[in-house]
Amino acid sequence: MVNFIDTIVASATPPGVGGVGIVRISGSLTEDIARKILGSLPEPRTATYRYFLNKNGQKIDSGIVLYFPAPLSFTGESILEIQGHGGPLLQSTIIETILDLGARHANPGEFSQRAFLNGKIDLVQAEAISDLINAGTEQAARAAYRSLTGVFSNHIGILSERLLKLRVHVEAAIDFPEEEINFLSDELLLSRISDCEKAFSNLLKKTNQGSLLRDGFQIIIIGKPNVGKSSLLNFLSGQDLAIVTEIAGTTRDILREQIDIDGLAVELIDTAGLRDNPEIVEAEGIRRARKAMETADALIIIQDITDISTILNIEEIPKGLPTIFVQNKLDLCSVKPKIEDNSVQISAITGEGMSELRRLIKEIAGYENLGEGAFTARKRHIQSLKKAANHFFNGKNVFYEKQAGELLAEELRLSHQALGEIVGTVSSDDLLGHIFSDFCIGK
Ligand code: GDP
Repeated sequence: MVNFIDTIVASATPPGVGGVGIVRISGSLTEDIARKILGSLPEPRTATYRYFLNKNGQKIDSGIVLYFPAPLSFTGESILEIQGHGGPLLQSTIIETILDLGARHANPGEFSQRAFLNGKIDLVQAEAISDLINAGTEQAARAAYRSLTGVFSNHIGILSERLLKLRVHVEAAIDFPEEEINFLSDELLLSRISDCEKAFSNLLKKTNQGSLLRDGFQIIIIGKPNVGKSSLLNFLSGQDLAIVTEIAGTTRDILREQIDIDGLAVELIDTAGLRDNPEIVEAEGIRRARKAMETADALIIIQDITDISTILNIEEIPKGLPTIFVQNKLDLCSVKPKIEDNSVQISAITGEGMSELRRLIKEIAGYENLGEGAFTARKRHIQSLKKAANHFFNGKNVFYEKQAGELLAEELRLSHQALGEIVGTVSSDDLLGHIFSDFCIGK
């Protein structure tokens, strides 16, 4: 077990006024601090009612305390949780008292980092804690919970195991060259290669879904004034609404709304804005749209089906960004024009065509609702998994082309190592610092 010198403390509840405020301590001074602040050490793993004392021994609050002696705790160190009343002054008085007794403020994610470093959870599970807290849809939350309970890590474990068997097999064959090897007639070896191949493509697919669930999908809506951009936004958010967030810091002229399409969190961005001044709508609207497009995943281009002059000059649009063409105001149209690929005819007033639009959005996002099989994943996981898959496929190709057992063995080693980066068996301090700094304090 990693031995930490510092004892850390943080409020585990959000700042502000609330019914209950929880202060959490982890580290080797936990028992000393508990004796001083509570008068004596409470029963392990039992909810106990206690007074909390300040440094002069005066009672400042009372509530439930929970004590988890090392190593049977979340972090693997001794932990004390003090559940007092949720007032900012009270919380900071309790924390100050604990700091005076030798603890220091925890950094963001430091409790989870200690849990990881002490082998209580792997890196994927640690990240899932943060993803669960920040989940934007119920499906994303359930998927994050499955990652937290080890579903994703198990998939990685199974693939690692298969890769390892294959490595052992190849390395053993290389080590005994006196036994004339004909790799390509070794059926067990070939079936092991094909098993790994299937496992890689399966897991890549699931991991991509997991990343979509976690990160959501961002779509910019562009179109000339009055084609129905905000009506579309209102319709979709009114119908599909799980959460509507007015994201803090957005200006009046960029509207963002989060909708939930079958568990996929889609952020819709209407960049038109500045509606009161038509002269600057075009130029300014397009400038903003273009800026937003740099980071978007897809685009919806909307036109008024009854007015040909509302077709946008699509030279302005960056190539390569997946696009859905929407023809709106279908209810006003008696003769429906022909519909092209990736286009849909809708009415933002009657709702006609909306289920087709939702289907297209899921399609361009590449989203499938995997139900109970889903877990959350991050871009980092996809990168490492792709790296592992690339090494595996490189190895497989040179093996089939040249029967180069040594090259296959080396690529398998690198592939195995890349898988290790995902769960954290292979990790650098930089990577850890980066991952845990994204957490909230107290986690
Ligand atoms: P934006 O400027 O592109 O955001 O357009 P708005 O959403 O503000 O819509 C402009 C006008 O068109 C409003 O009067 C809407 O009520 C109307 N409108 C929008 N969508 C439809 C539609 O599908 N059918 C009909 N009949 N009117 C619509």
